[in-house]
This record gives sequence, structure tokens and C-alpha cells, in this order.
Amino acid sequence: MENVYDVIIIGAGPAGMTAAVYASRAGLKTAILEKAAPGGKMVETFEIENYPGFSSVNGADLAGMMFEHATRFGAEYLYGDVKTIRDLGAYKEVVTGEETFKTRAVIIATGTVERKLSIPGESEFAGRGVSYCAVCDGAFFRDKTVTVIGGGNSALGGALYLTKFASKVNVVIRRDVFRATKTVQDDVYANPKIHVIVHAVPAEIRGTDAVKSIVLKNVETGELTEVETDAVFPYIGADPMTSFTDELPLEKDHGYIVTNDRMETGVPGVYAAGDVRKKDLRQVVTATNDGAIAAEEAGKYLA
Ligand code: NAP
Repeated sequence: MENVYDVIIIGAGPAGMTAAVYASRAGLKTAILEKAAPGGKMVETFEIENYPGFSSVNGADLAGMMFEHATRFGAEYLYGDVKTIRDLGAYKEVVTGEETFKTRAVIIATGTVERKLSIPGESEFAGRGVSYCAVCDGAFFRDKTVTVIGGGNSALGGALYLTKFASKVNVVIRRDVFRATKTVQDDVYANPKIHVIVHAVPAEIRGTDAVKSIVLKNVETGELTEVETDAVFPYIGADPMTSFTDELPLEKDHGYIVTNDRMETGVPGVYAAGDVRKKDLRQVVTATNDGAIAAEEAGKYLA
């Protein structure tokens, strides 16, 4: 069939870009559909220390190298915000806001989207002190006080990055333990700019033209405390980006796509790779692993 791709990869994070390397290098007519810049969450990560071969690499730099590699063997990079996928048997339709693409196989590698705090002031001050990306916006808060919400790897990585600019970085956690890995916790405890506030959740973000303070609620006593801050960086986890898959009978667990260890979903010719799939360890290296396997299996399916 003319104008039919062998493989369309949705999402250009590390999973999608690795799948593109493997699929295009195997001679498959391959496209990557992405609605933003390539790199996914890597772009928002200042320093990656656990990708083999790079003891320390800037996330955006690694993303750039992966993009160059992903398109080197002929994979097309297309802009598109996918609205739905239809399984028509011999081929699938991938529908964006502008176009409908035909493909024989699909690899879903769309990752996750940050959770919102859903408190008063959050949407009102978005872009005026509320930011979900420390690497993108941290430099605006030189010599200011900023507040990070959450205790996972993203929150603590963000907090450490923000110490490059801010004079004080509050980290607010709802328990009294972090979820992040121990080495990152050690770096946080060793940094004199970071002030940890435990047993607290945000209740309201206040300000005038920009953020001025955050109201925190003690989860044990219910007491409300207003803390002065010039910015709030929520990092309370993420949810899988799968809303566009509703027309496919995919098995999901809390929204994450269930695959076997060959990255196959229950729909022949449809694979999932990276953070969007149900898995225990979400890292760049596990995403690239998934992408390689998904492309390899798609190749076998098409043979
Ligand atoms: P995460 O590990 O799920 O951590 C979410 C944090 O937000 C936890 O501290 C959680 O508290 C807190 N939280 C959740 N809901 C909240 C709420 N409503 N109010 C206040 N606090 C709330 O999420 P993540 O940091 O985004 O990481 C996602 C995945 O990516 C993880 O698997 C992580 O390891 C991985 N990752 C890895 C790296 C790396 O290795 N370099 C970097 C970034 C992310 P509780 O602990 O009390 O639930």
C-alpha cells in the first residue's frame, strides 16, 4: 500500500527515539509523531548520572544526541498531537488534529504528564511563579525563595537544580520520608540552601501579580501556615498519557498500558514502550530498553 508506514512511533522521548533507531535501521518505513520538542522528560532534567557511558550528562544534550541518532537512518520526524488510533486490521489509522496517517504497526511511547496540585491559585499563577519545570524556569528566581512540593526523584532533582539560583529552597513533603533514591537524598541533606518541611501539603497559592506565598496544611494537626515564597514547583508524580488510546481494547492498570516482556499489548501490531507502560523502574535506560524491544518485535510482526 502506498503512503502506509511500517511503524509509527508516538512520542519522542528515549523510548520512542530508540525505537526509531532500531526500526529505521532494520529498513522499516518509520515515522515518529511528537507534539513537542524531542527528548520528553530528559529535556527538563539538568543532570543525568545513571545512563551508562555518561557519568554526568545534561538532559537536553542527551536528548539532542538521541534525536540526531533517531533520524540518522531515515526515520521521519513529524509534528502531531495524536487524538485517536483505530485498528482496521491490515493497517491502523493514527489520527492527529490535522492529518490521518496509515501504518501497519504502532509503538506508543508517550510517557507521562505531571499531576496538578488542584488547589486555589495553582492555575491562576501558572507561568507567574507556578512552574512544573525547574530546569526551564529556575533561572528566573535568582536570589529568591522557591518551594518544591514532593519528595520523589523529580522533586529532589528539581530542588537541587534550583539551589544554583535561589537563596532558599523549601521542599514540602506530606510524610517525613522521601521517595527519592538515597544518593539524591544525601545530596539534599548536604545542601545548606534546602529546607525540608515535613507532614505538610499545600492548601493555597497566594499572590498579587505573581506568587508571594503558599499556605501549607499540617496533615497531623490541620494547622495552616503561610510561607513566603516567590515560586512553587509541584513535583507530585505523573499520570500516563493514554487518553488517545480509548478506541483500542488495551489492558491498563491505573492508566498504564499493560504489555508482556516483548512490549506487545493485547492488540496485534500495537506496542507500548517507556514510562507509559506498567513497569517498576522508570528511567532513561529502561525506556531505551523498551524502545529497542518494541521495534524489534514490530519488525517480526511485519515480516
Ligand atoms: P514519585 O516518585 O511518584 O514521587 C511523587 C512525590 O510526590 C512523593 O514524594 C509523593 O509523596 C508526593 N505526592 C504525591 N501526591 C501528592 C499530593 N497530592 N500532595 C503532596 N505530595 C504528593 O514521582 P516522580 O518524582 O515524578 O518520579 C516518577 C518516576 O520517575 C519514578 O519512578 C522516579 O524514580 C522516576 N524518576 C527517576 C529519576 C532518576 O532516577 N534520575 C528522575 C526523575 C524521575 P509520598 O511519597 O508520600 O507518596
